[in-house]
This record gives sequence, structure tokens and C-alpha cells, in this order.
Amino acid sequence: MSDFIVKNTTSVSILDLFCPHFCRGCGCLGRPFCKCCKNYIVRTYVNYCPACYEPSEGKCTDCELPFDGLYMVGWRDTEIGELVEEYKYQSVRSAGSDLAEMLDAVIPCLKGEVVVVPLPTIRKHIRARGFDHTKAVARKLARRRGWKMQSVLVRAQDTVQVGADNEQRKKQASEAFELKGEICRDVTYLLFDDIWTTGASMMAGAELLKEGGATKIMGAVIAVSRMKLVAGDGFGGSGGVGRTANADSVEDEVDDRKSKDSDN
Ligand SMILES: [Zn+2]
Ligand SMILES: [Zn+2]
Repeated sequence: MSDFIVKNTTSVSILDLFCPHFCRGCGCLGRPFCKCCKNYIVRTYVNYCPACYEPSEGKCTDCELPFDGLYMVGWRDTEIGELVEEYKYQSVRSAGSDLAEMLDAVIPCLKGEVVVVPLPTIRKHIRARGFDHTKAVARKLARRRGWKMQSVLVRAQDTVQVGADNEQRKKQASEAFELKGEICRDVTYLLFDDIWTTGASMMAGAELLKEGGATKIMGAVIAVSRMKLVAGDGFGGSGGVGRTANADSVEDEVDDRKSKDSDN
């Protein structure tokens, strides 16, 4: 594969010369995810419902999710998940363009005015990483499609209680965000987050948009965790207590540890 093309038009590319990237998919030198691997993902793409893991054309008929369409790029335990990790924890900024490109390829054509809403990141994680990775990809995706990006959801609280049971977790997710700014009824809102674990945060965000008056809400995530969870109550598909059932909290705890590491 001869994908090693040197472009020296941006600071990212200059940096790439000193810290070259190897494709997460095939190992070739060049970008964090090469063109061939991106094409392969898009060519063989099947959308799955992040809640039941069954193939879905956007609206799963078995799961009651507050989205008119929900799209994912891939599973978290594959190279797609690795690429997200590299982007967010190792601040490989050029991976953001690859992620936005794949999202653009898998999200179908959406009619009318579309506004991309990034799910807000915990503030101390933004400080630790030096950038808001979710917002950055949301902006790139919006730019590719000619859509707007608006941060109409903000963090109301940054604490996540690890080990909370399902009811507490739902409550925390519903209290984690608040609406900021006007919602237009005629606009399609595309809520975006990088990772879907239990989906509690994405669903809480969608419910808030709906409460604010949004009539059409779509969702998009990059990587979905395939955590087989115990039968639940229809909210994230998880029930019971304990750390495996409490994936969002576990994820935030891992995030916390990593951000502490990078503070040192
Ligand atoms: Zn590759
Ligand atoms: Zn489903």
C-alpha cells in the first residue's frame, strides 16, 4: 500500500513527519487509519442497534430508543475503538478527520436543516486532554455535510457515581446535562458521542432535546461497546447492580484515571 503521502500544509502534517502514524487497521505507514481500511469499513458496513446488537437500518423495531434513527461506525473492540482511544487519550488529532470521514460515509442522507449536537464532555477531561474531542469530530462532520453544529446541551454536573445501581445511573444521566439555547421544531437534531456503552448518556441527551421541543432527533456514535448486559428495563438494556452493568460509570472512572495520568 503506497499511502505515504507527505503534505506539509498544516501543523498536524509537519508533526506527522516527526511522529509518523501507522494505520490501526493494516499497520501501513501514513495516516492513523488509511484510505484502504476506511473504504473497506464503508464497503462492508452494516448498521447495528447499539442496544440489542441486531442489524438495524437506523430505527430498531425491538428497542424503544428516543431516536428517529441511530447510527454507529463500528464496535469498540475493533480497530475503530482503537482509533477512538488513540484520538482521545493520545491526542492524535489527525485521527479526528478519519473518524468524521467514516461517520459521513455511514450516516444516510438527512433531509432538511440538520444541526449536530455534541454530547458534552466532562470539563476536567477536556482540560486534561487539551481539547474537546467530541466537539471537534462533530464540527468536522457538520462541515463535511454542510450542517450546523450547536452545543445546545451543556454539562450540569461532572460527577459520576461509580457503582450506582441502574435507577441511580439513569437519574445521574438525566441530571448530567442541561439545555442551553433555543430548540427549533423544524430542525433535525443529530446527537453525537464517540462511544456508546449503556447509552444512558445519549438517551438522556435525546430526552432533553425532546423536552426542549425538538421533533426529530437522530443519533450517531463512533464505537459501540459489546457488553452483554443482564436483561433490563428498556433503558440502555441493562439491569441489576455492579460494575459490569454500570458501564458508563466504569468508562468515566477509566477516563478519570487516564486524565489523572496525563496530568502527571
Ligand atoms: Zn489501513
Ligand atoms: Zn435494538
